[in-house]
Amino acid sequence: MINVTKPFLPDIEEYIEYVRGIWDRGWLTNNGPLVNDLELKLKEYLGLNHLLFLGNGTIALQIAIKALDLKGEIITTPFSYVATTSSIVWEGCEPVFVDIDKDTFNIDAAKIEAAITDKTSAILATHVFGNPCNIDAIQQIATKHNLKVIYDGAHGFGSKYKGKHVFNYGDITTASFHATKLFHTIEGGAVVTNNPALLKKMAFLRNFGHESMDTFASVGINGKNSEFHAAMGLVNLKSVDDILRSRKEQSKTYDKELADLRVKKPKIQAGGEFNYSYYPVVFETEEALLRSITLLNGNWIYPRRYFYPSLSSLNYVKKSDTPISDDIAKRVLCLPLYHSLKAEEITFISRILLRSQNNPDNQ
Ligand SMILES: *Cc1c(COP(=O)(O)O)cnc(C)c1O
Repeated sequence: MINVTKPFLPDIEEYIEYVRGIWDRGWLTNNGPLVNDLELKLKEYLGLNHLLFLGNGTIALQIAIKALDLKGEIITTPFSYVATTSSIVWEGCEPVFVDIDKDTFNIDAAKIEAAITDKTSAILATHVFGNPCNIDAIQQIATKHNLKVIYDGAHGFGSKYKGKHVFNYGDITTASFHATKLFHTIEGGAVVTNNPALLKKMAFLRNFGHESMDTFASVGINGKNSEFHAAMGLVNLKSVDDILRSRKEQSKTYDKELADLRVKKPKIQAGGEFNYSYYPVVFETEEALLRSITLLNGNWIYPRRYFYPSLSSLNYVKKSDTPISDDIAKRVLCLPLYHSLKAEEITFISRILLRSQNNPDNQ
């Protein structure tokens, strides 16, 4: 069976070595030495000023919204994982969807200004599939209208914009280190900012608002992560260059094998460098996509409809007009892509897709 993704598992002995250290210290969670070490190493690796390691990428979004004290409307993308939208609603704000660019699949910066009202407080955009947003254009609009910018960087590990890691941009970038992501800590996430005051505020929010044992700076929540998760991150970080390299090679193999498949692929944002974290293809029609899925499933291959449906169709948001997102969401499929996926398997998957295209009636 081949799934859309398979979590990377490092050498177990290296993980066990860290676990022995945890046993020796008896320090399991609450900002322990491994959490601190992971934060330091991630900042080094990604070239960041400040980063806080959190329980997951969803609590990261919630803490980011809370820390910026956002109210009213938040302009966001309809083409992302549901957590991008649900976090806005969970924090008592209203998502306002702006359609995506037909080439990059990211929020279309040229359409943002028309959606701004006197209730708008921020823009929350996703670097979808790891393709950087049009960061300069978004920042220009935000500065002009005095809006905050949050990037959902859940797919962005390793992607760059104008030479810097994408996590460097916006007021806050959030990350997810869930087991299915390119770099993972089993469950995990982070908030990144260049603003020391914001960092301090988010550090309080992460830990129930504790300022000291008996004093509280603010309301807070439990956004912490454990030594065991940090240990997984520390071991996995050693392989992340390898993971990035293999993703790129595998994507090139797909490109070659699928040269004759009539699908569209995202165009990388100008100024952006892609991390190859996903391999999305957009079929000509939803029927062609469904036929391909059926044939792949018949061969024990399970790609995923990332991202379907378009988030503007959720039953807890205000209806809005996002025809490009609706259309792409219906036709997009992420093909299997993970570290241990072999070239032969990519060839096998590709042949099935071509067979589905070339013999639509005779599967
Ligand atoms: C995975 C993901 C999240 C949520 O991250 P978790 O760590 O699973 O909570 C948020 N946004 C996007 C775009 C994601 O893909």
